[in-house]
This record gives sequence, C-alpha cells and structure tokens, in this order.
Amino acid sequence: MIEIHRLKKHFGNLEVLNNIEFHVKKGEVITIIGSSGSGKSTLLRCINLLENPDSGEILYHGKDILKGNININHHRTKVGMVFQSFNLFQNKTVLENCMIGQTKILKRSKEEAKEKAMFYLKKVGMEQFANCSSTQLSGGQKQRVAIARALCMDPEVLLFDEPTSALDPEMVGGILDVMKQLADEGLTMIVVTHEMGFAKEVSDRVVFMDKGVIAEEGTPEQIFINPTQERTKEFLHRYL
Ligand code: ADP
Ligand code: MG
Repeated sequence: MIEIHRLKKHFGNLEVLNNIEFHVKKGEVITIIGSSGSGKSTLLRCINLLENPDSGEILYHGKDILKGNININHHRTKVGMVFQSFNLFQNKTVLENCMIGQTKILKRSKEEAKEKAMFYLKKVGMEQFANCSSTQLSGGQKQRVAIARALCMDPEVLLFDEPTSALDPEMVGGILDVMKQLADEGLTMIVVTHEMGFAKEVSDRVVFMDKGVIAEEGTPEQIFINPTQERTKEFLHRYL
C-alpha cells in the first residue's frame, strides 16, 4: 500500500530523515519506536503530506504522491492521521467534528455524514457526547472523538502520532483498547508510540528509528527479545 524509497528531509542543517526505506502492506499494524527527535513524527507527516520531503519517493498504491498534482485533501481522506494533541475543532460539537470532513471534502449529505458519525462515535464509546462542545471533554474523550472523526472518512490507513502521550495515565488503556480493536478488525495502521506493551502485543512489525534512520526493524519478538543493534538494546533498556 505504501512504499517509501530514499526519503530525505532536513530542517536547516539538521538531517531529520536520512534515506528512509519503509513499506506497509494492507492490513499491517506497524509501530514506530525511538527516542524523541529521531524523526518519527516527520516520517508520519511526510506520508500524510503535512511535510514536504527534500527527495525520495512515497508510493501510495504504486503512485508517487510527491510527483504530479496530487489532491492533498483527497490523499488525507485515504491516509488519516490522529495526533498527540487531538486537534479537534474547538468551536464545534463532537458530532460536527465528525461530520465536517465528510460534507466538505467527501461531499456527503448531512444525513449520511451524521449516520456515519454516530456509527463511529458509538464504536469509540462517545455517542452520548455527540452534542457536547469538544472543549468540555477530557483528553481521553477528545482522543476517542479524534479517532472517530478519522474513521468517518473511510481511510485505508490510519497514522497515529503518540496518541496516548498527552493523556492522564488512567485514560491510556481505553485508547489503546480502541486501537487494538481497530487492528483486530484489519485496519492498516502506523503507530508512533512509547507504549511498548502495545507495540509487543498488537503490531506485526516494529520499526526502531534513531537519528533520522531506521536502525532496525522486525517482528515484535525480533525487536524486543533479540535486537541485533546496540542502539536498539540501549533504547529498550530504558523501558524494560
Ligand atoms: P520525533 O517525532 O521522533 O520526536 P520529529 O520528527 O518531531 O521527531 O523531529 C525530528 C527533529 O526535527 C527534531 O530535532 C526536531 O526538533 C526537528 N524538527 C521537527 N519539525 C521541525 C520544524 N518544523 N522545524 C525545525 N525543526 C524541526
Ligand atoms: Mg514526535
């Protein structure tokens, strides 16, 4: 579904992504782990066209999204993103947050958009909050709504950038449960996370990034039980 070749990105003198090779198949759940500043968010943001890489290819179903005139909004309906800081529209209700992309970008009718929104709000346990202002919600509730909003666009793949890092500890488990359910249902997911339990249990493949490169990748068993690189071992040592 996604194939990345020789991807490079720098900010000023800083090489943030250095020759990234990365691929994702339909139905795979991939977790990306690594220290702060290693380039994890930048990689996700390139896949979602929130950043413009310097060079390389990002093939989505074989077509390079960095070339030609890609419709960015359309691309983002297929490749959705869930952020650490939720990024809900503050002045809108929960329901409106879940409808606006559907009506504006997918041109769905209000009725259809509402039906879909309620379906996904129910899925994440937030249907009773449909008419609340998003500002009234706790962090965990906001993240549930953000996930529902992303699902409403019928994405083929969802990118999660540290979706539980801004949450109170007691909220983390509920969000991870929602994500695990989506994984079990076969959604293709790329998840940047520091939740090593989730990475171990849920992902098909774990990618360890260090200083702008993919230092090591493999199954959870390979990465967590038999890492081959010293820097992977050092990183994991801090968590295990
Ligand atoms: P991670 O998500 O792994 O913590 P990021 O991809 O956010 O890493 O950032 C990688 C590096 O790029 C960091 O050193 C960060 O400070 C820098 N960086 C990220 N975004 C920008 C930006 N818009 N301008 C300048 N530097 C940036
Ligand atoms: Mg980040």
